[in-house]
Amino acid sequence: MNRVALGFDAHPFGPGRLLRLGGVTIPHPLGLRGHSDGDALLHALADALLGAAGAGSMGEHFPDSDPAWKGSDSAVFLECARDLVAQRRLKIVNVDCVVIAESPKIAPFAAEIRARLAQLLRTSPEAVGIRGTSTNSLGFTGRNEGLAAMVVVLLEAVES
Ligand code: MG
Repeated sequence: MNRVALGFDAHPFGPGRLLRLGGVTIPHPLGLRGHSDGDALLHALADALLGAAGAGSMGEHFPDSDPAWKGSDSAVFLECARDLVAQRRLKIVNVDCVVIAESPKIAPFAAEIRARLAQLLRTSPEAVGIRGTSTNSLGFTGRNEGLAAMVVVLLEAVES
């Protein structure tokens, strides 16, 4: 049986932080504020994996009230979600990621993010899609107050 889910996350920009997105550092004047490293793309991806696996949500597994996750590299969350998927005898078919931001532009970093996501998920890069879009100056992303990410994942049952 195939299982699909959507993940979404958004974080505000803030000074004095590296911009971490999709597990890579992107040169930008502002980083993303959050309890962890603020990596909205990894959060959306991990949430989509958990949803598709029927394994809860980011908020349940990694509440931002828990000091254990303060300043955490969000790769930890994704690796946990990946392992829960495997424990449920599911396999990632593909993931498709959209980053919604006025800046930075995603295209120059897409190959690096794709490679990093494939590495974290233990899939081939061909199973990972990543692209950016803007909201044409509308809303919080249009005002450059932060960015958002949406991810769709498709899982299939492992043949036994
Ligand atoms: Mg988040």
